[in-house]
Amino acid sequence: MLRFDILTIFPEFFGAVFDYGIVRRARAAAFVEIHAHDLRAWTTDKHRITDDRPFGGGDGMVMKLEPIFAAVEDLTRVGSSDVEGSNSQKRVVLLSPQGRSLTQSFAADLAMNAKQIVLICGRYEGVDERVAAHLVTDEISIGDYVLSGGEPAAVVLIDAVTRLVPGALGSETSAVNESFSDGLLDFPHYTRPPVFREMTVPDVLLEGHHAAIAHWRRRAALLKTKRNRPDLIERAALTEEEKAWLDEN
Ligand code: SAM
Repeated sequence: MLRFDILTIFPEFFGAVFDYGIVRRARAAAFVEIHAHDLRAWTTDKHRITDDRPFGGGDGMVMKLEPIFAAVEDLTRVGSSDVEGSNSQKRVVLLSPQGRSLTQSFAADLAMNAKQIVLICGRYEGVDERVAAHLVTDEISIGDYVLSGGEPAAVVLIDAVTRLVPGALGSETSAVNESFSDGLLDFPHYTRPPVFREMTVPDVLLEGHHAAIAHWRRRAALLKTKRNRPDLIERAALTEEEKAWLDEN
């Protein structure tokens, strides 16, 4: 069982977002548990304030660190949740555009090794830097763009991790052929009808020769990766024959 604890000032944001598809099934089958907590529960002042003006001046507000420290310490304390396990199985993630990029291999590491993941969602100008420096195990970005809050990023991370928890995908092999699993993008998929407005499906896929189909899929994956993500091709493990073929195509 992997437990996610989301810290947010908008817990209602997560209303139905985990009620669909693989994440819903993984929750129903108790592979994962997801809890959204109102950060205000850990404030101590009358107005339950979670943000303040920035030192040094400038626009916007900054999320205060005291409620965040209190919440994380509370949620990860032994006996406070159902989570047993060593500290290395408890990860505390700050969602931030300044973080390291979320990758499939990072998601797989969390899915295989973590028992609890606390996710801190920022708002406004972000979170007091002492949280990144002294509290979290990982500062993670979901891409090179700025969201207005960490909540959509938390949903993305939870979805990506949940589908890699062993057993959460119906078929154990489903994730093996997906994009990024072998450093390449997935091959293109087609279904019926075979012809739509003169747009056809590659003949090889209709002929039923498994070796020929596997060969075509590998080549199609190589080509698509070269066109859409040349950065991945540079790092992929390719045979000399594949490299030569790609140079010509
Ligand atoms: N001032 C910050 C900066 O320029 O780096 C942007 C803060 S953003 C408006 C507010 C919050 O949204 C952040 O604290 C973070 O939690 C979340 N956020 C924004 N973009 C993100 C991204 N690409 N990945 C993960 N979280 C993000």
